[in-house]
Amino acid sequence: AAKQTGEPVRRWSPALDERAGEFVRLGAEIRAALDNDQFRVVYQPIVELPAARVAAVEALVRWEHPVRGLVSPAAFIPVAERNGLIVELGEWILRTACRQLADWRATLGELAPDRVSVNVSARQLARPHFAATVAAALADSGLPASCLAVEVTETAVFEGGQAVVALHELRALGVRIALDDFGTGHSSLGLLQTVPVDILKVDKSFVDNVTAAGRHAVIAEALYQVSSGLGLAAVAEGVETAEQAEALYKVGYRLLQGYHYGRPVADPDFALPAAMSEFR
Ligand code: C2E
Ligand code: CA
Ligand code: CA
Ligand code: CA
Repeated sequence: AAKQTGEPVRRWSPALDERAGEFVRLGAEIRAALDNDQFRVVYQPIVELPAARVAAVEALVRWEHPVRGLVSPAAFIPVAERNGLIVELGEWILRTACRQLADWRATLGELAPDRVSVNVSARQLARPHFAATVAAALADSGLPASCLAVEVTETAVFEGGQAVVALHELRALGVRIALDDFGTGHSSLGLLQTVPVDILKVDKSFVDNVTAAGRHAVIAEALYQVSSGLGLAAVAEGVETAEQAEALYKVGYRLLQGYHYGRPVADPDFALPAAMSEFR
C-alpha cells in the first residue's frame, strides 16, 4: 500500500521529537542498567528426540527493571542496536552464557547440555574483532569452543562483508553457526550457498500450524530436507504442543525448542520428565 500512495515525506514534528526523546531516554536507561547489573540471562532448553534429552540451551537476555519489572528484549534490543550499546551488552551476555555452561559442566557433568547458543546482533558481527572477543570469552570461562553456538539472523549476514568474514573466523575457532528465524528472510536458501552455517533454526511461523496431515507439514518437511541434505542440524522453534512435536518428528526433526519443553529460565531442569519422551 505504501508503494501506491507513496511514502509520505517525513518532516520534523513534535511527535518525532518525542520519539527521539524516548529513544535517548531509553538509551540512557540501558546504559545505567548495564552499570547497575540489571540484566539477566535465562536459558531455554533445546530438546533432542526421541529421548527428550536437553542437548543445548538458548541464552536469552532479560532486563529486571526496578520500576517496570521484567522488560522484554523486544523493547530494548532494537534501541541498544541503534545506539551501539548492544556491543557492550552483547559481550556481557556472551561472557555470562559461557561462564554459566562452564559452571553446569563442572557441577552437573553428563547432565549438562552440550552447547549454549547465544544471539548475536548484526552490529556486533560487523565489528572488526568480533571473533577475538568470542575467543577471549571462551578462554576466560574455560568453555571449549565446540560448546558454543552463535545465532545470527539472515539480515545480519545478508550483505556479506565483515559479518561473513567474522563467521568464517568463528568457525575456524570451532564455534557453531546457527541461522536464526530461518525461512523468514528474502533469500533464505540463497544464503546457504555463501554463508558458513551449521544449524538452521526453523522459524516458529512454520511450526505454528503444523499438523501431521496439513500443508504446513509439507513446508516444514521441505525445510528439514534442505537442512539434512546439506548436512546441517535443524532446530524447530516455538513448539508449543505435543501435536506439533509429533508432526515435526514425523517429517524428520529431532531437535525441538519451545514452551512445550520449557520456557526460558535462569536455572532449567536438565532432567526432563520421562513423559516428554513421547516418541519411541
Ligand atoms: P529469538 O532469538 O527468535 O528467540 C526466540 C524467542 O521466542 C524468545 O523470546 C523465546 O522466549 C520465545 N519462545 C520460545 N519458545 C516459544 C514458544 O513456544 N512460543 C512462543 N510464543 N515464544 C517462544 P524473547 O526471549 O522474548 O526474545 C525475543 C527476541 O529478542 C529474540 O528472538 C532475539 O531476536 C532477541 N533477543 C533475546 N535475547 C537476546 C540476546 O541476548 N541478544 C540479542 N542480540 N538478541 C536477543
Ligand atoms: Ca535466537
Ligand atoms: Ca528465532
Ligand atoms: Ca525471532
